[in-house]
Amino acid sequence: MDLFKKCNDFTRADDIKALGFYPYFRAIEENEGPVVQIEGKKVVMAGSNNYLGLTAHPKVKEAALEAIRKYGTGCSGSRYLTGTLDLHIELESRLAKFFGTEAVLLFSTGYQSAQGIIPTLVQGKNEYVVSDKDNHACIVAGQIMAKGLTANLERYKHNDMADLERVLSKLPIDSPKLLVSDGVFSTGGEIVHLKKLVELAKKYNARTLMDDAHSVGVIGKGGRGTASEFGLEEEVDLTMGTFSKTFASLGGFVAGKERVINYLKHHSSALIFSASPTPASVASALAALTILEEEPWRVEKLISNANKIREELTAAGFNIIDGRTAIVPVIVGNDDIAFAMWKKLYEAGVFVNVFISPGVPQGRQMMRTSYMSTHEDEHLDFIINTFKKIGKELGLI
Ligand code: PMP
Repeated sequence: MDLFKKCNDFTRADDIKALGFYPYFRAIEENEGPVVQIEGKKVVMAGSNNYLGLTAHPKVKEAALEAIRKYGTGCSGSRYLTGTLDLHIELESRLAKFFGTEAVLLFSTGYQSAQGIIPTLVQGKNEYVVSDKDNHACIVAGQIMAKGLTANLERYKHNDMADLERVLSKLPIDSPKLLVSDGVFSTGGEIVHLKKLVELAKKYNARTLMDDAHSVGVIGKGGRGTASEFGLEEEVDLTMGTFSKTFASLGGFVAGKERVINYLKHHSSALIFSASPTPASVASALAALTILEEEPWRVEKLISNANKIREELTAAGFNIIDGRTAIVPVIVGNDDIAFAMWKKLYEAGVFVNVFISPGVPQGRQMMRTSYMSTHEDEHLDFIINTFKKIGKELGLI
């Protein structure tokens, strides 16, 4: 049997394209944040992770250009060898200060950060990764790598602390464990039950890693993320994150104790064998961090924008996963309605993300909407009214 048979037999995407419902890989031609141009048409963006709208901020753009002028376009080497710039070190120390941790290490993407942290720390036959079932795909990839290195993998029900305790209590107390969770879950937007999670980690001898991709710039004091949200900065061992959302750039990081960061620096193959983030990426993340520190109102505006949508769509009768982050998932129930709704929204001028099975369980198919601090009332009202009109047409409300 030919290895590529599965590729030749894969027609689902083509079938959906032929029906005109294909929502993926749409090319954005212009991007000013809340409004983007796709296929020559302006649409209101309600699906970006550009939470503070900083990809279009003049200071962020200028910082990237200035870094290109000074350092060129790429680093052509890994952090370990020829790829460390003073800019990388500056961003690491600025982030360490921001989070109040001893040290920070940058990676080239958030996805790569998980792969650089988890299998580097958890490898041994008696070591365990304990993970929420709904954790992001990059954590799953990191776990699979750890398992490949002979470590053990345990999963618990989504954000279910009773199930977490059931899992932890079965494991040998002396065995080293890494307990990993999204701080804000990327699909549903829920916040992890951190207080209980940290309590269980202590009780059962586990270290903790929070993925704060959707938390930084969104929750916590001045957008400092999940540990800060709960006042548990001292209890969370490691926080990882990304520059692809609030920081308006590309790259990832991990924050924690100096000894642990130092170990990762010298053992993490995702760091050592991959080129470092480009000068423009680092400089734009630095500029975004400065804006986040100096203008905390942006975080408040982001949450009030998302809350407005959450409240109005709930009042209109939509099935919304409740929360208080930038993500507002609108459950529609099956793949057909999901594609139909996406298409109608797009044609009416609203761009959202559509999540279908098997990416989400049957019945949880959704329009995964997310907001920015740069959305104005006119954008939000347009999104709400368009959802209401189409929700009625499809019998959802
Ligand atoms: N973690 C979570 C929870 C995410 O949602 C994402 C991106 N969608 C990542 C990690 C990966 O980040 P990056 O885009 O920097 O690879």
